[in-house]
Amino acid sequence: MAKKRLSKKEAEEKIEKFFSDIKNKTPEEVRKIKRLAMHYNIKLGKFRKKFCKYCFSPKLRVVSIKNGIKRVRCESCGRISRWKIS
Ligand SMILES: [Zn+2]
Repeated sequence: MAKKRLSKKEAEEKIEKFFSDIKNKTPEEVRKIKRLAMHYNIKLGKFRKKFCKYCFSPKLRVVSIKNGIKRVRCESCGRISRWKIS
């Protein structure tokens, strides 16, 4: 497959589209999209919380929300991530 060069805007749209359907993606696809974002210097921002930062699996389950801290367990590797929620 020939590599098509995207404009930054096209890359952003691709990332946006990807994350709207994140639950059906594989860790490998997440890794690819992250690489794409880095290549185009696009900040993932809110999307970073859509996948496990250790194994890139999108299968995350909320464990608890307490004192403004959300704890999420990755169903793939079992690690827990904590996010501040505002
Ligand atoms: Zn994980």
